[in-house]
Amino acid sequence: MGFSAFRIIKEGLTGNRGWTPHWRDPEPKAQYDIVIVGGGGHGLSTAYYLAREFGITNVAVLEKGWLASGNVARNTTIVRSNYMLPGNEPFYEFSLKLWEGLEQDFNYNAMMSQRGIVNLYHSDGQRDAFARRGNAMHLAGAGAVLLDRDGIRQLCPFLNFDNSRFPIHGGLWQPRGGTARHDAVAWGYARGADRRGVDIIQNCEVTGFRIENGRCIAVETTRGPIRAKKVGVCVAGSSGRVMAMAGMRLPIESQVLQAFVTEGLKPIIPGVVTFGVGHFYISQSDKGGLVFGGDLDGYNTYAQRGNLQLVNDVIEAGMTMMPMIGRARVLRSWGGLVDMSMDGSPFIDRTHIDGLYFNGGWCYGGFKATPASGFCYAHLLAKDEPHSVARAYRLDRYRTGALIDEEATGPNPNLH
Ligand SMILES: Cc1cc2nc3c(=O)[nH]c(=O)nc-3n(C[C@H](O)[C@H](O)[C@H](O)COP(=O)(O)OP(=O)(O)OC[C@H]3O[C@@H](n4cnc5c(N)ncnc54)[C@H](O)[C@@H]3O)c2cc1C
Repeated sequence: MGFSAFRIIKEGLTGNRGWTPHWRDPEPKAQYDIVIVGGGGHGLSTAYYLAREFGITNVAVLEKGWLASGNVARNTTIVRSNYMLPGNEPFYEFSLKLWEGLEQDFNYNAMMSQRGIVNLYHSDGQRDAFARRGNAMHLAGAGAVLLDRDGIRQLCPFLNFDNSRFPIHGGLWQPRGGTARHDAVAWGYARGADRRGVDIIQNCEVTGFRIENGRCIAVETTRGPIRAKKVGVCVAGSSGRVMAMAGMRLPIESQVLQAFVTEGLKPIIPGVVTFGVGHFYISQSDKGGLVFGGDLDGYNTYAQRGNLQLVNDVIEAGMTMMPMIGRARVLRSWGGLVDMSMDGSPFIDRTHIDGLYFNGGWCYGGFKATPASGFCYAHLLAKDEPHSVARAYRLDRYRTGALIDEEATGPNPNLH
């Protein structure tokens, strides 16, 4: 079943009775060429690109809950490529280019909306750092504009420019940044993978790995053992727990990050606005709700819920940046488990166990990486060679000292 304007009109006129399920609900087979553990954005996009780019379709995605029950549908939907370091910027720019053609590519409306993202600065030193970042973005073809105070005033007149602690001096704007509807991204990839023959198996938790003579030959699951030539793990906030079943200890901590949505309002926020010094960022959904978030709760956990202290913190930061938000009513908030790596950058790599691969450490920024992460992981799984834009995401980088410390916070995930 394909989507087109003609199809939508036809279904609208005939009672919407012709739509079929987006993906099958198959029983797991005894064996696959490749098993992906984790049916989040990254697992589903990996399966999609394995099938579409590399013609590998004897693939299963195993998801312990329902499809997109994790961070892929809990995040605040921001898509951007405003990175600076050579290990990161080409990867995220590759991802943004994939985003730009994604809806046509997988024939699904993911509500990709490139309304821009602006990072505010509050001092001369911060402006210089942002100018440097903007130059790095230009070199990678990502595009950036350094706005002064008046430029920001034109974009967002409602901000508190004269806050005594953090007066707004300007911002770095990436016009191609924006938002996409998070769960639709998972559904689009799932449907695209399923149509090419991938089995998406929900309610199937991986409970162990069968490793013989240094090689992973199967996964144990709640629906029985499944053999595989290769196993690719991408379970985001559960990375530590899942890889521990293969005897590996990762340089990753799991922490909770919360998100908030207000009642629907008329259009007011032009794109995404981030207030880094106060730990606050905001955008507006197509339904009108203000979607915002802030800092991590700041402790290690595997619970997908946060606490009230952080709610207070985020709302305070919002009031500091744009006092008018105090008039809006928050309708919902929720938490997701983020896989914080020590330098804030991810991993897409083989492990020391043959046939076992790992993708994780996306911290609070892996949604925008979904297309490139899936593409590069599929490349690694298919060819046993890293993709050129993901070469730096190695598991041994703390041993070799080749950190990718984008935030310059050193080995302190709670400070990112
Ligand atoms: C509140 C919040 C806001 C965020 N905002 C942004 C943002 O604006 N922009 C951005 O780029 N990023 C953002 N992120 C980060 C982004 O959501 C994540 O980095 C990204 O979604 C992680 O990849 P994923 O989609 O594959 O993860 P998930 O969707 O979490 O997928 C992992 C899956 O693995 C499954 N799983 C776990 N254990 C097992 C097992 N043993 N067997 C089988 N399956 C298993 C889980 O059930 C889950 O479905 C945010 C995160 C949160 C929590």
